[in-house]
Amino acid sequence: MSATGDLANLQKEFEQQASAVVGREAWDALRIAWVGRKQGKLKDLMARMKDIPPEERRDYGQAVNRLKTTVEQRIQALDVELEAKEKAASRTVTALDVTLPGRKPSLGTLHPITLVARQIESIFAELGYSVAEGPEIEDDYHNFEALNFPPDHPARETQDTLFLERAQADDGTLGPKLLLRTHTSPVQIRTMLGREKPPIRVICPGRVYRNDNDLRHSPMFHQVEGLAIAEGLTFGDMKGTLDAFCKRLFSADTDIRLRPSFFPFTEPSAEVDVTCAACKGKGCATCSDTGWMEILGCGMVDPRVLEGCGIDPDRYSGYAFGLGIDRVAMNRYNIPNIRVLFENDERLLRQVRT
Ligand SMILES: [Zn+2]
Repeated sequence: MSATGDLANLQKEFEQQASAVVGREAWDALRIAWVGRKQGKLKDLMARMKDIPPEERRDYGQAVNRLKTTVEQRIQALDVELEAKEKAASRTVTALDVTLPGRKPSLGTLHPITLVARQIESIFAELGYSVAEGPEIEDDYHNFEALNFPPDHPARETQDTLFLERAQADDGTLGPKLLLRTHTSPVQIRTMLGREKPPIRVICPGRVYRNDNDLRHSPMFHQVEGLAIAEGLTFGDMKGTLDAFCKRLFSADTDIRLRPSFFPFTEPSAEVDVTCAACKGKGCATCSDTGWMEILGCGMVDPRVLEGCGIDPDRYSGYAFGLGIDRVAMNRYNIPNIRVLFENDERLLRQVRT
């Protein structure tokens, strides 16, 4: 028989074997028998060329190539077919196999900021404060003017305000100048204006915005503001309240100290430091060896602010304070970069799960 006739027989043999393949094992055997590197049936066909009479070599070579292509394509097609069958089968098995161990759903957990905010709210709730909320888009009056920031006051510039584009009516008149609130203090103003008369005791937690972005600052962050107005409230009342609050928020052995400061809407004003929780006041890297952490701003509400909100400053007095929720969460959970708080990385949430 001619060499090309041998090839035709080989092809027939292959077709028979290929159509008998039903599973992965049979397919593997077929692949190794025909195109396996060591002893595949097609391997030595080209080596036989030297035994072929010269006039037949061209036809023989082409026939070998055709056979190789046919075999390879068929083996590949079978592979695809088998894979599809295997996938379908594994789906059915997963659905039916009730003996497999269950897969635990990953449980949700509260965000560190929510945890800290809720703790602060509950401490003040026990002290008789209620929670007040206000809009995040504010006007100049509530965010600045009513808080004793006159126009062109330099303190406005320290706030890196994000302004909104002013709407324009058809006749060209501009809408009100709006901004993203730079602090939660406008909620104080809204609370005072919205009530008939003191006593007032509220805290206002919420998001605030400033054009500021680095390791310790994010353009959006969280503050909680507190306001108390009544007859005869003193600086001593404020100090006592904040001392009790810090002992609850951190630990019973936490001390506070007040340093003079300036805010346009309080007079006098102070910054409040607490004992560094990491070293208990001894001095460490976290507190730059001072033993203290700056945590709050506070002060007695300026009589002009009270007056502007229709509260008689001769009869009533009050205090206000504010702190950054993010800063407390960063200290508590040892988070060095504020952006970690806003990246929604599940690993962070797993870490703070209690
Ligand atoms: Zn320290």
